Amino acid sequence: MAYSAPRGTVDIINQAPKWQQLEQLLRTVCAYYNVSEMRTPIFEHTELFNRAVGDTTDVVSKEMYTFQDKKGRSITLRPEGTAGVARSFVENKLFANPEKLQKYYYMGPMFRYERPQNGRQRQFHQFGVEMLGVESPYIDVECMVMAVSIVESLGLKDVKLHINSLGDEESREAYREALKEHFKPALKDLCYDCNQRFEKNPLRILDCKVDRAHESMKDAPKTIDYLSESAKAHFDKVCSLLDDLEIEYVLDVNLVRGLDYYSHTVFEVISDDKKLGTGSTVGGGGRYSSLISELGGPEVTGVGFAFGMERLLIAAGDGLNEEEGLDVYVMPLGDEARDLSVQIVTMLRANGFSCDMDYCERGLKGQFKSADRFDAHFSMIIGEEEVKNEVVNMKCNHSKEQTVVKLENIVSFIDEHYGEGDHHE
Ligand SMILES: [Zn+2]
Ligand SMILES: [Zn+2]
Repeated sequence: MAYSAPRGTVDIINQAPKWQQLEQLLRTVCAYYNVSEMRTPIFEHTELFNRAVGDTTDVVSKEMYTFQDKKGRSITLRPEGTAGVARSFVENKLFANPEKLQKYYYMGPMFRYERPQNGRQRQFHQFGVEMLGVESPYIDVECMVMAVSIVESLGLKDVKLHINSLGDEESREAYREALKEHFKPALKDLCYDCNQRFEKNPLRILDCKVDRAHESMKDAPKTIDYLSESAKAHFDKVCSLLDDLEIEYVLDVNLVRGLDYYSHTVFEVISDDKKLGTGSTVGGGGRYSSLISELGGPEVTGVGFAFGMERLLIAAGDGLNEEEGLDVYVMPLGDEARDLSVQIVTMLRANGFSCDMDYCERGLKGQFKSADRFDAHFSMIIGEEEVKNEVVNMKCNHSKEQTVVKLENIVSFIDEHYGEGDHHE
């Protein structure tokens, strides 16, 4: 039997250095913003996602990997990252920390049972940030600025910030009523799902893929027209802060986001860069006001955003630098030279140099090819003559310069060579 990876999954092999660089870049940005990492479990109790993400969303109702464990508990592979962080925030009483604002990021695989297509896998990866514990428009804006700067630092062009407000509970109630009023006459034309949503959560009708073109969608009520006074004040402050920071944004009244927990500010980072295609959403997020209390925590709120990392990689294109090559590739000729080489690579690694050696007992030609493939700065050639004289032959592959170096001087030779060098980058 031939084994293959399950549909919707990929092996990351040649792309691994790019993944590492992307991860490193994201960690660095997080350090600039004083955001610490949180690692939550890959699987959680199914109820968490039903509650946090919302059981009328497509993610929960159609796309989750849910199974029973051996004790009959319902377990789900995480389809997104916010629910786990929110659960941990409540469970570990992070809200009681003297530092009221808690900032976390997460990074890792998520799972959704969707039709696989280019850049969208069933096991995919997300990077996300959550800032919990304080409700302030300043923090909404910090999240937005952070999201935009990540995308720009990957070299993506024509980046636009789209924002909208869904308002607070009072605004949402008024808006729900307005939606029901609006969609009631059209219900008989709308799909089965929309008829379900009408009672449970009419907001979701707006992102129905089946009824997207229906007449009633065009003039549906906008959240922005139903904001309570305090919700409007919050949103006005967000806009004026963005103005002050000279961050360009587009007020996008149709932006509602696909998950149930959002309120107040929602945003998306959209790019017209050729690499992703015009008007592509790179990522987005928003404030969630009732999520923490719904999970049994206090009445505190959070704001966050997430990016699909596969999309970030496409966005980065060649913007991420290639992996650095080896310092030394050791090329023994003969048994004695091989024994000596083992000593040398061990010594070099202990001194902080990256190196490898030939174990395949090949001739010089094959070994030089490996030195080339590994982009080694030095090829270190050791033949019978070198073993006898207790020296090695060091060739800098940038300058092509060859030097005979005594065994005890190898480390100092490399240090000096690197110190001088402008023949190599
Ligand atoms: Zn529908
Ligand atoms: Zn050199």
